[in-house]
Amino acid sequence: MLSPEARCSFCGREAIARIAYAKLLLCEEHYIEYIKNKVKRTILRYNLAKHGDKILLAVSGGKDSLTLLDIMYTLSQEMRFSIAVLHIDLGIEGYSEQLKHSVESYTRKLGIPLVALSLREVLGVTLPQLSKKSRRPPCSVCGIIKRYLMNACAIESGATAIATGHTADDVIAYAIKAFLLQDYSSLSKLVPKTRALTGAVSRIRPLYEVYERETLLYSVLKKLPFHHGMCPYVVKNSLERYIKKFFNQLEELFPSTKISFLRRLANRAETLTVIDTERESVRTCSVCGLIASGHKCSFCKVTENAVGTPLGRVVREYLSSIVREIWS
Ligand code: SF4
Ligand code: ZN
Ligand code: ZN
Repeated sequence: MLSPEARCSFCGREAIARIAYAKLLLCEEHYIEYIKNKVKRTILRYNLAKHGDKILLAVSGGKDSLTLLDIMYTLSQEMRFSIAVLHIDLGIEGYSEQLKHSVESYTRKLGIPLVALSLREVLGVTLPQLSKKSRRPPCSVCGIIKRYLMNACAIESGATAIATGHTADDVIAYAIKAFLLQDYSSLSKLVPKTRALTGAVSRIRPLYEVYERETLLYSVLKKLPFHHGMCPYVVKNSLERYIKKFFNQLEELFPSTKISFLRRLANRAETLTVIDTERESVRTCSVCGLIASGHKCSFCKVTENAVGTPLGRVVREYLSSIVREIWS
């Protein structure tokens, strides 16, 4: 808590936030401006977007993705790139409906094109049903489905990149976990921008240096209609959660630990990518033609397991019929 005497470093009004790593106290207006500029600096530093790009934003309706949407909307006008939103309705009862409502209401307000995909409509089954039928944990199926639909939607619409709302805390948690498991393939992908490969569009993470606490305060101050609830399948005692807690403690004691870690990780990406390329060859799926690590992609394998036929090609055809016009 800041004392009422704490003053904004820029304008002298009452401060509502302290940015320890930048040695700043900020009022509401300058806090919002600071976070927006922080994202802009990340975009410029890592060359994430430029004039004329078509960026597909993956928006779930939580605080991080709505912050991404809000800031990218402003920056798309300043930096002159196009944006469209992709939302995936997983069909989780008591959870997905509210998320969808948040995304629909905010994209409508901003006037941004929205592709809302319902798993029930696209695949004929919801995520819980798919998980049961394929006998895999919900989060594992969820990751495969979301990654596939994002990539397929970007390819079919002609997007130049997919932007996700992963924050600094998310990337650090995944990176430490990947390091503990010596999973260099995953580690090499935890960069601000992944390379475009055959059958895969580049992924960008504009919130790479933004902390989770910062997106929370930003979305509250800007009154973004984000959904507060938690997915019923979230693992409460996950390793990622402990890593985040640990890094928050480190950041309290040594401000800027997180940013320094992430910048080093981004710089090491080249080397990690070489290690990764030596280990795994990149292929394309024999069914749908998108990126795969084997003969078939994970999406085609999971859907074949669950519904008896690999659905990659059918889904790509469906997406192509609905996303062609989104940038006009
Ligand atoms: Fe998907 Fe819910 Fe698991 Fe997140 S917690 S990966 S939304 S199933
Ligand atoms: Zn101020
Ligand atoms: Zn496939």
